[in-house]
Amino acid sequence: MDSMNAAMFYRPGQVRFERIQIPQPGPGEILVKIQVATTCGTDIKTYERGHPTIIKKVPSTFGHEFSGDVIEVGEGVTRFQPGMRIGSCNSAPCQECYYCKRGQQNLCEDLLLLNGAYAEYIVVPARLVKTNVYELPAHMSYAEAAVSEPLGTAVHAVRQAGILPGDTVAVLGSGPLGLMLARLAHLRGARVILSGEKTEERERVARNFGVNEFIDILQVKDPAERIQQVKGMTEGKRGVDVAIEAAGFASAWEEAVQMVRKAGKVVFHGGPKAGSTITLDCQLQHYGEHTLIGVYHETPDDYRRGFELLASRMVDGRQFITSTLPLNRLLNAFEMVRRFEGIKFAIDPTRME
Ligand SMILES: [Zn+2]
Ligand SMILES: [Zn+2]
Repeated sequence: MDSMNAAMFYRPGQVRFERIQIPQPGPGEILVKIQVATTCGTDIKTYERGHPTIIKKVPSTFGHEFSGDVIEVGEGVTRFQPGMRIGSCNSAPCQECYYCKRGQQNLCEDLLLLNGAYAEYIVVPARLVKTNVYELPAHMSYAEAAVSEPLGTAVHAVRQAGILPGDTVAVLGSGPLGLMLARLAHLRGARVILSGEKTEERERVARNFGVNEFIDILQVKDPAERIQQVKGMTEGKRGVDVAIEAAGFASAWEEAVQMVRKAGKVVFHGGPKAGSTITLDCQLQHYGEHTLIGVYHETPDDYRRGFELLASRMVDGRQFITSTLPLNRLLNAFEMVRRFEGIKFAIDPTRME
């Protein structure tokens, strides 16, 4: 047992499946045998165009949403023992910088990011073991636990949105994050309008999650028409109380701004590519008193809350998983997500077929 299967990123568009050395846990670290790694839009972007912060040198392991079994613990680890089933965030803040001390650990100036979930084993660094790793309750599947990282970012966004019971919330984007945000808005007592690509699968999940209206952007292609439709679903066509963007396009950011009522809030969750800009109607902003909120990543408290929501199945993590595939089908999984033929795939790194 000294080598393992891993997906290795070489350059945009090139990933190879190789045998590499199994890493060894140092002090405070744990070695985890990964049971499930889930596909994520960020990994697809990394595959297509590389990533400035996640991939620093090549070849590199990648993938960041995972869960598995503790195999070995490093010196000084007391909270975890071999055999425990765990879920982990992909990052941990330093707890010492200006932002960490302010309680805004998602903005940490020395955020540690863990990469390498598309592999059989991973070493979870000490800082992460201390703050962002949890044991799975017996009923919780590995796949459910693997989506705790993205759900934490949705928790973070919804906290900033300040949604109140009885509000109407528009969520732009029907990918896994759009669906997570829609579910959390529903749990806050809001009426939820989802605007995104509608497939049979996404429609079913949206219904299970309590989404009230689903606008199919494959059918309603004109953004102006979608804005009118959303406003038309609010009293006096005044617009929604909160719009949350989760599509990752500058055009969707602009669309979201135009859907809210006066004094409404817009939360930008999706990350458009570097260099993107948006145009803002100054009059609309001035007379409308909109609050525009950028959100990034999650704090350890957001992560913990996301984990709790999955453990209690207030958010049913099983809904996001289209199917399970062996590691060597990873790139097929990416293609299928791109074609809206799935929400997320659970990759089993122990299987190569
Ligand atoms: Zn992710
Ligand atoms: Zn920090």
